[in-house]
Amino acid sequence: MSVKPTTQIGNPIIRAKAKPVKDFSSKVVQKTINDLIDSMRQHDLVGMAAPQVGVSLRIFITEIRNTKHRKPKDIDILRVFINPKIISYSKRIVAGYEGCGSVASANLFGKVNRPDTVVVKACNEKGEEFELKAKGLLARVIQHEYDHIEGRVFLDKLTDKKSLMSGEEYMKMKKRKK
Ligand SMILES: [Zn+2]
Repeated sequence: MSVKPTTQIGNPIIRAKAKPVKDFSSKVVQKTINDLIDSMRQHDLVGMAAPQVGVSLRIFITEIRNTKHRKPKDIDILRVFINPKIISYSKRIVAGYEGCGSVASANLFGKVNRPDTVVVKACNEKGEEFELKAKGLLARVIQHEYDHIEGRVFLDKLTDKKSLMSGEEYMKMKKRKK
């Protein structure tokens, strides 16, 4: 197992546009995928992109499951996206809170508006192409991770700066809403 410290904003790799993967079977690609899986789980995140483990390649993973900050209704399996393209977005826009392993080590949350549904085309870890229609939290995480490989973070897309809150306050707010 290889858990990487999460690259933080301020490090130029977070703002760089990541490069496409050419050789799917290369050691670098396979190692990056394994590092992402171990690191995402260890850092208690529901998605992670290669620049966050210091690799500027167009790879990200998602795994919608229970974490400290999230108890999602729609659990989803571990998925690997290589050279992804988001080919369509729903017109319906929804607001949701996001945090990020690369922003204050996932201890800062803020509201971001995003399309509710996306269709994404990508290759899996074997280099096989697939297409996926995602909605809800998975669609949000896919867009958040896709932004990472474009050099963007959720702070760039905040709906309202006043929605920013610490992890502790975010948990308190969620409890109040229940
Ligand atoms: Zn992130």
